[in-house]
Amino acid sequence: MNLFFPRYIIQFRFASRHSSLFTNNPFTPAISIHKKRRFSTISLSISPKSELLVVVGGGAAGIYGAIRAKTIAPNLNVVVIEKGKPLSKVKISGGGRCNVTNGHCPDNMIMADHYPRGYRELKGSFFNTHGPVDTMSWFCDHGVELKTEDDGRVFPVSNSSSSVIDCLMSEVKRTGVVMQTGKVVTTASTAGGKFNLKIEKRSIDYVESVEADYLFIASGSSQQGYTLATQLGHSIIDPVPSLFTFKIDDSKLTELSGVSFVKVKAKLELETVRKNIQQLTQVGPMLVTHWGLSGPVILRLSAWGARYLSSSDYKGILYVDFAPDLHIEHMKSVLLQHKNQFAKLKMLNSYPLELGLVKRFWKYLLDREGIDGDLLWASVSNNSIMSIASLLKQCPFKMKGKGIFKDEFVTAGGVPLSEISLKTMESKLQPRLFFAGEVLNIDGVTGGFNFQNAWSGGHIAECSKIRSER
Ligand SMILES: Cc1cc2nc3c(=O)[nH]c(=O)nc-3n(C[C@H](O)[C@H](O)[C@H](O)COP(=O)(O)OP(=O)(O)OC[C@H]3O[C@@H](n4cnc5c(N)ncnc54)[C@H](O)[C@@H]3O)c2cc1C
Repeated sequence: MNLFFPRYIIQFRFASRHSSLFTNNPFTPAISIHKKRRFSTISLSISPKSELLVVVGGGAAGIYGAIRAKTIAPNLNVVVIEKGKPLSKVKISGGGRCNVTNGHCPDNMIMADHYPRGYRELKGSFFNTHGPVDTMSWFCDHGVELKTEDDGRVFPVSNSSSSVIDCLMSEVKRTGVVMQTGKVVTTASTAGGKFNLKIEKRSIDYVESVEADYLFIASGSSQQGYTLATQLGHSIIDPVPSLFTFKIDDSKLTELSGVSFVKVKAKLELETVRKNIQQLTQVGPMLVTHWGLSGPVILRLSAWGARYLSSSDYKGILYVDFAPDLHIEHMKSVLLQHKNQFAKLKMLNSYPLELGLVKRFWKYLLDREGIDGDLLWASVSNNSIMSIASLLKQCPFKMKGKGIFKDEFVTAGGVPLSEISLKTMESKLQPRLFFAGEVLNIDGVTGGFNFQNAWSGGHIAECSKIRSER
């Protein structure tokens, strides 16, 4: 039970100073709170004799890890401190459906290739210890039926992220993990092999002190989490957004909002990138939006190019090949054949169907080439046909910024992987300190890879050291 006494109700037992929370005080296994002139207690069902693990962040990594910890070490006190609502990103993820993981990567080496930050390091034991198959089994064993869509994305059969949240929260309750919401862990330090934490609830202006035996930072991309990591001696790789859409400087293109392409090949050229980077060319579906371009191919480019794009101020040129399976010479002959066959038709009304283009986009191409759509195919010069073919194979778009989403889907940067052991998720600098999820310099492309990082890290963090020490 979690009780908060209203303002001005004084608990004399704690009246004079900050007290240590989750203490070994034999009289009360309780949190005590010092407020300037207001005191209150929050009683917890924690055992004063057992060690305490504090988890910072009730997101996917934190909650999954906390459940794992309580499962393998039932006597350990496990307390999750969450500043907002637990699993809030899970709720909105995948358009409210929650793309839990990816089911098309049974090979862990291939799995790692989906992480622009982490692809080298994650080729080790990470996904072998707890990969997508393990995650799917875990959710199935705990009552969440899952389905794998054609592109590999795994969703709950219910098509609702609530199934995932309900499952995790009922496991939190069943295993005895203690959830503390609406509180922020603001500072962390070490003394005598323990972690001293300050926890604040700003809305009512109080501070708690907690002494923990283990600390697990799963704070996602929050600045407060990075601050805690630096207070404990870690460095932070500058966080930059990943997985965003591209703003394109072309009003005629954005008028085509909603037009999609099943398969394009897109290459990003940036002034800050001099060498040829294979991952800055991607193949896949693309979508025109009100402000530019989106779709899997663009999101993948944004992820692989996240750092370069940030240093280029999100400006560059995107070259799109609208028929990647057709050689340029073949493209020319397709157009020339069409000219011969449909010589008496207007260019706007007739174009090769095998190119899979919609009429609105064909008109856009003619406009870009300055060709009047009323012109008969018979009248169009072969030079103009060569130009259309070139445009279809290498159409340049000027990028003028990144998409207008308020919150980025994922953040690149965070605690460097060189500072933690991916076998245990334990800090190499601070024993008994663990990290998992987006707080680390790991981020994946779309398709369930980011949650998989959180589930894998959460699972690994809590199984090795804690088990071996207990
Ligand atoms: C709109 C959207 C849709 C997405 N869809 C998908 C998807 O379908 N599939 C996929 O794989 N990925 C998806 N992602 C990415 C995925 O949500 C994240 O990668 C994942 O949530 C990371 O998990 P985490 O536990 O590391 O961090 P988070 O989920 O961000 O959780 C961290 C938690 O820590 C709390 N916190 C931070 N600092 C403190 C502190 N000092 N004290 C207390 N609490 C703190 C935060 O409030 C937060 O709840 C999506 C992201 C967004 C934004």
